[in-house]
Amino acid sequence: MLKIHVRAAIRRYVTSSATFATPAAQKLVQSRVQQIPLPKVLKSFLDEYVVGQEIGKKVLSVAVYNHYLRAYDKQKKAEMKMQQEILEEERRKDDENEPLYSGSSESKAGLKNLQQQFGLSSTRNDDDLELSKSNVLVIGPSGSGKTLLAATLARVLDVPIAITDCTQMTQAGYIGEDVQVCVERLLVNADFVVAKAEQGIIVLDEIDKLAKPAASIGTKDVSGEGVQQALLKLIEGHKLEVNVKRPVKAGTDNKKNTTTAKKDETFVVDTSNILFMIMGAFVGLDKHVSKRINTLRAPKEHQTQESQKDDIQRLRFNNTIEEIVLDNGKRVSALNMVTPSDLVSFGLIPELIGRVPIVTALEPLQKKDLYQILREPKNAILDQYKYIFQQFNVKLSVTRKALEKVAQFALKEGTGARGLRGIMERLLLNVNYQCPGSGISYVLIDEETVNSLQQTEHSLASHVEAKYYSRGQRDEFINDATKEDEELGRELDREFGRTPTREKEHQEIDT
Ligand code: ADP
Repeated sequence: MLKIHVRAAIRRYVTSSATFATPAAQKLVQSRVQQIPLPKVLKSFLDEYVVGQEIGKKVLSVAVYNHYLRAYDKQKKAEMKMQQEILEEERRKDDENEPLYSGSSESKAGLKNLQQQFGLSSTRNDDDLELSKSNVLVIGPSGSGKTLLAATLARVLDVPIAITDCTQMTQAGYIGEDVQVCVERLLVNADFVVAKAEQGIIVLDEIDKLAKPAASIGTKDVSGEGVQQALLKLIEGHKLEVNVKRPVKAGTDNKKNTTTAKKDETFVVDTSNILFMIMGAFVGLDKHVSKRINTLRAPKEHQTQESQKDDIQRLRFNNTIEEIVLDNGKRVSALNMVTPSDLVSFGLIPELIGRVPIVTALEPLQKKDLYQILREPKNAILDQYKYIFQQFNVKLSVTRKALEKVAQFALKEGTGARGLRGIMERLLLNVNYQCPGSGISYVLIDEETVNSLQQTEHSLASHVEAKYYSRGQRDEFINDATKEDEELGRELDREFGRTPTREKEHQEIDT
């Protein structure tokens, strides 16, 4: 008898769940949370797209995994609670009608069955335990991969993401973007499915630009502090009413152009399960941290003033980020030693820091990282250009030395990997202009080509000259490539099914 009631209760719950409005949304939430990739899987996915940043990738993989576990746990408990209430209700009704069944072993078995079904054969203590939200703060220089990491995680998790620049935000009532614009964007990116948005990721970029100026710490300040205050509720978890313009059915105007009308719609979005990743370069924070740590350490008696000066010299890390020498002699970026009080000194409000318990720092990219970024990750910049040239039947090859030179230029620009694309664009503009429809079949970019870019500075009107070859000059093209980059030469030989020329064989024997 009770078995029938339990089944009916489950059926009723599934069809009338108050938590998730539609069956599609219920299914979506369940499938998402049950298939959270393991931290190791997340990390190896990140490895395919993001060069270096080993610590950052590991910290984020664990943080994201735990975040979604927490969301799942919260949801399971809510479901279980609802199931138990339904059961209690049914049992109460049974008791009134058929007291004989009260507390029967059958009813207990039904409850146990349900618990197993929801993976909750928990103790009372587990039920009371609530995992707190683990939002993340990512500190790192511009162009080091902060946004790339967030976007890649969103891709592997198949959740929507909204990246919002905090510098545009103002307190409600002032001209500018209201803080809730990030939730609106997430909802749009989730195709207006609230349940999908509620599982998404919001990136608040350039959070450091909201820092209170040092002079105003301790006083009432209106600049970024108001926005930081406004963000608190969102980050902690809050039911928010958002108004968005939703496109409605396309029509045609009187000139027969297709039009898309937009309709104002109001949605209620709960931000409790949204993962907030706040990011910023925090320029100068490293120096603050290293000063704090060094003043804490008693000066070593045996150290002369000269050797202390030497130490400070060595504390420079890539000319941008200070490095700390640990007691065991290991050197780490000062940003890896950031404490909440350093962030308060920088100008973030303590309440905000308290809501973002996981802090990780990315390293400034070195020349070898920039070189790798050009050619190794999935979707690498070089592959993208090769593909473009392929579209107009031109084989583009770039030697190792040329790529190293590009990496060196980017390092000098100091904008991390951000500079790489601009340099490649300047390098290839003229080539891209010359090639289509010209009878050129092969293009070689070598060190000389990149050197010629140096003289043209930042001008896009540069006349960088690459080495061009017609269809019949394939062997010459491969031989020239081999002269500067043997590995590239071997690759081309393989690709064209060519045996190395006599000239090259002689060279190999000679050397
Ligand atoms: P930021 O740290 O300023 O958020 P982004 O993540 O937006 O930097 O990176 C800017 C560009 O540089 C992107 O095109 C990204 O693909 C590339 N990039 C930056 N860091 C890396 C990295 N570690 N690995 C691969 N590509 C990177």
